[in-house]
Amino acid sequence: MNKLSSNKNAVALDMGLMTFAKLSNGEEIKNLRFYKKAEKRVKKIQKKLSKKQKGSNNRKKAIIKVAKVHEKIKNKRNDFLHKESLKVIRDNQTIIMEDLKVKNMIRNKKLSKSIQDASWSEFNRMIKYKARWYGREYIELDAFYPSTKKCSICGYKNQKLDIHTRKWICPKCRTFHDRDYNATINQLKIGLGQSKLTPVDYAMAAEQKYIFWSTSYHKRKQEACHFNGE
Ligand SMILES: [Zn+2]
Repeated sequence: MNKLSSNKNAVALDMGLMTFAKLSNGEEIKNLRFYKKAEKRVKKIQKKLSKKQKGSNNRKKAIIKVAKVHEKIKNKRNDFLHKESLKVIRDNQTIIMEDLKVKNMIRNKKLSKSIQDASWSEFNRMIKYKARWYGREYIELDAFYPSTKKCSICGYKNQKLDIHTRKWICPKCRTFHDRDYNATINQLKIGLGQSKLTPVDYAMAAEQKYIFWSTSYHKRKQEACHFNGE
């Protein structure tokens, strides 16, 4: 396997339900809607199958149809995971991800979500072996670290932050946070502490970019509120 030419980018990824992953560089990997769509389709054809008479030709046909749909979903999912993992590997020299075992434990058991959990693991597996293939550095954050509640700029721990709050303002330094994006900046910093490459510049650059993003987002938001007469 040919190694890719090295670059100076480092990125932390936060896997999510609404968005497949948020990246500390401000990008995101959108969730494919096929999780929900696929779930509906599978249920529908499985219901049809259950109505067919045992041993009948129609039942045999229906079984093949169910298998085909499953196969199609799997292929679509794999294409998506390959494409997105390769992009992350191409764009970055150091890739930081949380240990997904911890994350999976706090998820509930709905089918679409369990499909998604499987996709997370598969995506993580692809990142790992592609990092090896192409000469990238992969760092896994092995401990459960409260990256969500901590302000990535001043370190303040916001204990009041509940699971439903997507945006918040740090009471100490007044930085405007997007919940997931803030978490990725924290993960980036911890991960780079474990990096064998020269990490400090990356973390500082990311922080600067994040502050810029946060300030301009906050300003836009305030303007929008003003416009709406709020
Ligand atoms: Zn702060």
